Amino acid sequence: MSGKMSMTSKIMIWMVAGLLVGSLINNFAADNAWVQDYLVMGLFHVVGAIFISMLKMLVVPLVTFSLICGVCGIGDLSKLGRVGGKAFALFMLTTALAITLAITIATFFAPGEGFELASATTGAFTAPVAPPLSQVFIDLVPSNPVAAYAEGNMLQIIFFTILFAVCILMIGEAGQPIIDLSERLNSVMMEVVNVVMHVAPIGVFALMAKTFSLQGIDMIVPMIGYFAVLVFILLLHATGTLMLLLKVLGRVSPMQFLRKMRSAQLFAFSTSSSNATIPVTLQCVEKRIGVDNSTASFVVPFGATINMDGTAIMQGVATVFIANVYGIELGLSGYLTVIAMSVLASIGTAGVPGVGLIMLAMVFNQVGLPVEGIALIIGVDRLLDMVRTSVNVTGDAVVTTIIARSENSIDMDVFHDANAGHEKDVHLPKRAPV
Ligand code: ASP
Repeated sequence: MSGKMSMTSKIMIWMVAGLLVGSLINNFAADNAWVQDYLVMGLFHVVGAIFISMLKMLVVPLVTFSLICGVCGIGDLSKLGRVGGKAFALFMLTTALAITLAITIATFFAPGEGFELASATTGAFTAPVAPPLSQVFIDLVPSNPVAAYAEGNMLQIIFFTILFAVCILMIGEAGQPIIDLSERLNSVMMEVVNVVMHVAPIGVFALMAKTFSLQGIDMIVPMIGYFAVLVFILLLHATGTLMLLLKVLGRVSPMQFLRKMRSAQLFAFSTSSSNATIPVTLQCVEKRIGVDNSTASFVVPFGATINMDGTAIMQGVATVFIANVYGIELGLSGYLTVIAMSVLASIGTAGVPGVGLIMLAMVFNQVGLPVEGIALIIGVDRLLDMVRTSVNVTGDAVVTTIIARSENSIDMDVFHDANAGHEKDVHLPKRAPV
């Protein structure tokens, strides 16, 4: 074992350092123009934004090449359909379990009861217009794949790439060079992920320092009931429900799984974006957990888009909270509508920061809760977004592992090897003289 610290530990240390620096600035230098202009909105903002762009830059090419390799690797259409069906069913199941758990526990703790609406400092929230469900299905098919790639529309990219890859298989021998090329390009992209991982500690530090400079912990105080119940349920779902499913359906050790997922969870936490975390999730699931590329390349990006357990939990708790604040009785049918709506809403919205609030507005519109109530929870939402995105990403990886196990496409030697897939050093090999 080398004396060097693992990349995950480094990221964790820099993350905590960012949190501390940000909190110190928030407490002692909130009015210092130099610190705000040059550090918070200068250095931290620029470095953080560059880091997020670097992660996002990997997503589209990585998903495309990886998916072509994955589909061609499966090589059998019925298996592809089966994996897709299982993924969809499990994603819906975990989301439904998450929100049901959230509503049940939140009803018990009743956050928001006795909340002084008049004294609350509320921001403004304008409800976005929700697209009709029919449009969500129409939008699955890109009318122009180039536009889908340019916009990074994940479901459309998945649709087109799978169709493309299936047709590579259908042309037989002639398609082999394209498969070979995709495999090489996929290896290159995996290496790019590796390179980006090496600057991650600095990026994570900048993101954390900026967030905590702007979001003082003290803003949680008036919302402590909502905040605490929500974080409790998020942790319960991630370490309870999901791990139980992993143990029962996936028959693998939850402890080992969690150890191997740590870097993806940290990335999700600091970026608040399941989408931007896709490269790291794919790396963890394939290289550390041992899931075959043919399953991971499809299920991980699919999950980042349609599976949001943490977000669903936020919606459940927010519904109970706002209903209590406004003294509105939703009743069983109201809550069942909330469950159905949030499961459906998660399909049509991508995993990017803050999207949970937009979904919440759709849910509130449907059950007749005041959408302007969302303004109450906006203040603490940025911090909660970090926690729930980690839960979202954990859910994606749990479902991927369960499916891989049922399809026998996981290498259990890799899973049990504590050092498997540890970040490699980045260096250019010396080229032999020509
Ligand atoms: N930020 C979350 C994600 O990317 C979505 C949300 O809850 O806002 O998964």
